[in-house]
Parts: sequence; structure tokens; C-alpha cells
Amino acid sequence: MNQGRLLYAGKAKSVYRTGKKDELIVQFRDDITAFDGGKKDTLRNKGSYNAAVSAFFFEYLEKHGVKTHYLQMLDDHRMAVRKLFMIPLEVIVRNVAAGSIVRNYPFKEGTRLDPPVIVIDFKDDSRHDPMLNDDLIVALKLATPQELKKIKRVSLEINRLLSALLAKQGILLVDFKIEFGRQGKTIRLGDEISMDSMRLWDKVTKESLDKDVYRFNKGDVMATYNRVAGRITGSAARPAAAKKTAAARKTRGSTRPAAKPGAEKRKPR
Ligand code: C5P
Repeated sequence: MNQGRLLYAGKAKSVYRTGKKDELIVQFRDDITAFDGGKKDTLRNKGSYNAAVSAFFFEYLEKHGVKTHYLQMLDDHRMAVRKLFMIPLEVIVRNVAAGSIVRNYPFKEGTRLDPPVIVIDFKDDSRHDPMLNDDLIVALKLATPQELKKIKRVSLEINRLLSALLAKQGILLVDFKIEFGRQGKTIRLGDEISMDSMRLWDKVTKESLDKDVYRFNKGDVMATYNRVAGRITGSAARPAAAKKTAAARKTRGSTRPAAKPGAEKRKPR
């Protein structure tokens, strides 16, 4: 597949055109950011772990009836996807209280949320992704009431599928963020589902197995991503991760100092 012009570069992924008008290439870069871009690093091969885990989840979800943008992996950092018109919503599903809802509401960290709580933010960096409600989403014409209903239903289904899958690996799916887009009238899951966009805790030790390790300097980010990618995908689906382990060891952890003082008060994104 030919990689064409750069269409969009986000904080950790770049999107390219291809020779086909309805297909794109997503490149998972080795960049990692937190606190609205206030903390940034490049960790060699990090993108390959997120790409491998995202591909694994997309394939699993497709197999279970969830429509996604995923087509195939092209190499260990690049994924071919269907072109979607992205809906600027960040749909966050929470099973356990952690992160911003603990900072913003009187929840104790670790409290089970049953039924799961869906929070939807407006994807707009210039406004720091404010939280929306259904009326605002419809008034802003971001989605129709029918689309919103569908997005919530599919999000809960994804939560059910991934929670059960991860539980088998001894991992608790605390929360995650997903994004959807339109292909004609069809709503598909887009973007990524990876350690950058999920909060994962070891079921027994409650150790963080996700970007919180980077956000809060909890340990060796690359060692964590390597280990968790292996746990999630299993040995057969982790050639990239396995191959890169030696290189990853050389770039352990952050190459830059911890976030600036006060950064913790910002939204840890
Ligand atoms: O920061 P907060 O607690 O609201 O994040 C909830 C979940 O959504 C976390 O798993 C976080 O990694 C993810 N998230 C994300 N991108 C954002 C906002 C949140 O991946 N812009």
C-alpha cells in the first residue's frame, strides 16, 4: 500500500493518505505526551506496542460484531484503516473510579462503578476537552440523538467484551477512551485502543499497567508497555514487541525530567 501525503499529525499518531480514497494509514509514533502536552517524550518503539495492542483489540471486536476502522497492520508502527469522518467526541467508559472523576467529584479511587459510567468530552484541545451532555452534543450538531444512542450502546458493548478479555489475563479494565467516526451512514470505532487510552490495573497488585506509569513517574514505561502488550496479545501476536525488547531496554523510562511543578493540576491527558 502506497503511503501518500500527511493528512494530520496528532500528539502520538500521524495519518496519511493512500492511493485509495477510502483508505488511510495511521502511523503510531514513538511520542508520548501527558498533561495536555505539558509532558512529552519519545520512547523508542513505544508506538509498536500501542499499534500491536490496538490491532489485537480491533480484530477481537470485529470478530464480535463491533464495526471498526481497522483493515490490517502494514508493519509494526503502521496500520491501514478505513477513512472515517471523525466525530469530535471522546467517549470515556469507567468501571472503577480513577483519574479525573476522582479529582472532580467525591469518588474514592478504586470504587466500583456498577453500572459503568459513560462520560463524553468535546474533543477540542483549544478548550481543553470540556465535558458534554446529551443536549449539548445534539445542540452542537456533533451527533444526532439516534447516533448518540448507538455510540453509547456500542461503547458499553466494547466495555463488556474488553473487560472480560482482559480479566482472563488478570487485568482490570478501570476505564478507557474511544472515538467514533462515520463511513457513510455507518458508525465505526476509530482512533486506537491502547495503553495510552486505557487505565489498566493488575487485578491482584493494583499496579498501573498504562500511561499513568508515564504521567506520574510510577516506573519504567517501556518495560511496562512491553509486559502488558505481551499479556494482552499473547506470544503469537507480539513479534514486534518481542523483537524490540532489547532496543526498548536501552530507552527505559522517560528521557526528560518529570512534569513541571503544577502540571498534575492540569487534565492528565
Ligand atoms: O483523565 P481521565 O481520568 O478523564 O481519563 C479517563 C480515561 O480516558 C483514561 O484511561 C485516559 O487514558 C483516557 N483518555 C484518553 N485521552 C484523552 C482523555 C482521556 O485516552 N484525551
